[in-house]
Amino acid sequence: MTKLLYQGVENEIDATSAICNKTPGAPSPEFHAWDSADPKLKEECGVVAIHGHLDAARQAYLALYALQHRGQESAGIATADGLHLANIKGMGLVSEIFTDDVLAKLPGTMAIGHTRYSTTGDSALLNAQPIRVDSTKGLIAIAHNGNLVNLGNIRARLEREGAYFQTTSDSEIIVQLIAHSKSSTLVDAIADSLSQVDGAFSIVMMTRDRIFAARDPRGFRPLSMGRIKNPGGPDTIIFASETCAFDLLRAEYLRDVLPGELVMVTGDGVTSRQYSTGVQQTSCIFEHVYFARPDSRVFGRWVQESRDEMGRQLARESGVPADVVVPVPDSGVTAALGYAEESGIRFRLGLIRNHYVGRTFIEPEQRVRDFGVRLKLNPVHNLLEGKRVVLIDDSIIRGTTSRKIVRMVRGAGAKEVHLRISCPPTISPCFYGVDTPSKRELIAANNSIEEIRRFIEADSLAYLSLEGLLKCCDGVEHNGYCTACYTGNYPTQWVDVEDILPAAATL
Ligand code: SF4
Repeated sequence: MTKLLYQGVENEIDATSAICNKTPGAPSPEFHAWDSADPKLKEECGVVAIHGHLDAARQAYLALYALQHRGQESAGIATADGLHLANIKGMGLVSEIFTDDVLAKLPGTMAIGHTRYSTTGDSALLNAQPIRVDSTKGLIAIAHNGNLVNLGNIRARLEREGAYFQTTSDSEIIVQLIAHSKSSTLVDAIADSLSQVDGAFSIVMMTRDRIFAARDPRGFRPLSMGRIKNPGGPDTIIFASETCAFDLLRAEYLRDVLPGELVMVTGDGVTSRQYSTGVQQTSCIFEHVYFARPDSRVFGRWVQESRDEMGRQLARESGVPADVVVPVPDSGVTAALGYAEESGIRFRLGLIRNHYVGRTFIEPEQRVRDFGVRLKLNPVHNLLEGKRVVLIDDSIIRGTTSRKIVRMVRGAGAKEVHLRISCPPTISPCFYGVDTPSKRELIAANNSIEEIRRFIEADSLAYLSLEGLLKCCDGVEHNGYCTACYTGNYPTQWVDVEDILPAAATL
């Protein structure tokens, strides 16, 4: 059963109800078999906003559909028609939640949407977004990608000032700051509130008649602006975490929302202000390595181009004699193509991924672990047998999955297995919206590369250098990237040092 939370639906009656929109007996979307064994780091979420479209809810739905890779735990859409602000959110995939019947309950020409994998606040439906708050500044809905890092102090202060929090999500702190701001206009209150929080936030907000979009001053997470030209009428303005969402809507990419910028869209057009200046940009380089789709343009650069270059640079830095280059699908594919072209070694899809496993294979957790990586990947024996294989992946987190993959390739008859990773060793957790294990669990935080090689049972192992990665993302001159998970150098002062000390002591 998919539970949906309705807010402000049907003439502003604020009601919470549960409906079933699944076939009886079908597996619950709340159980994701592969998640329990998924070794990959998870992004917190994706956000979208639509202004000036007759079916804004459906446009938001399509944009969220394109951003589904950024979070599969819950999704929500809020719409406004100038008078009312409705909000529906549920657990599961965008397509499971937003059937035609559900979309029909979301009227209006404005919408914001969110798809989520939680990193702060528990995963309950109440913490799904958009969050809708009835504040002293009127009804506000907010959707947020990222993580705030100075939560404790601000939340305690707001509670002393009488704030009543409906959720444990850090995103609500921004709304409560707006509600408690002394500024007289809403846009001033938003700017005032955003300058009080630290950390990563790309947010979209909506009132009954306006849309706002903003990025934190360091620009950790992406947020782009696009438009659909409407003949004879004003343009539809769209914001989305990644530009791949514009393609599905046939929208044109205009520009990125700048770090420290607050954009407002009303019936009168688009206005903007810098609420923060003079802060060094530190956009998340891992968006280019893994999170973002290769068909997106992120931080002004095509992700596909960066990943291709990472593979080429990897071949230049740590090439090895081999017969085939094989990606760990899907995220290793583009880098493997670059490696193959640069090295002149043939590219082969020697591992095939089952894309449906996470949604359909329902087994008790332990049994899923026993199946391990074989559920998701299967080797193509005739491409691997007797071959010296260069295996390309984008990260090693705990090392256990990499070992299973190396064993799988060797078990399919490979003569040698050389693992190449398209980024530097991950040695520190992320505090800016990426769900990373603690430093104790990160294999590269506690072992040398030779120790990791022995653990994963590869014939050789090499990572891309940090300098190489920055060069591939066009970041050497601009130095505009956060690389904290590879260096331990965090760009904000507010990281929870306690959390990283125990593992740091083992270095
Ligand atoms: Fe991205 Fe790593 Fe920085 Fe987190 S710590 S924002 S994952 S580069």
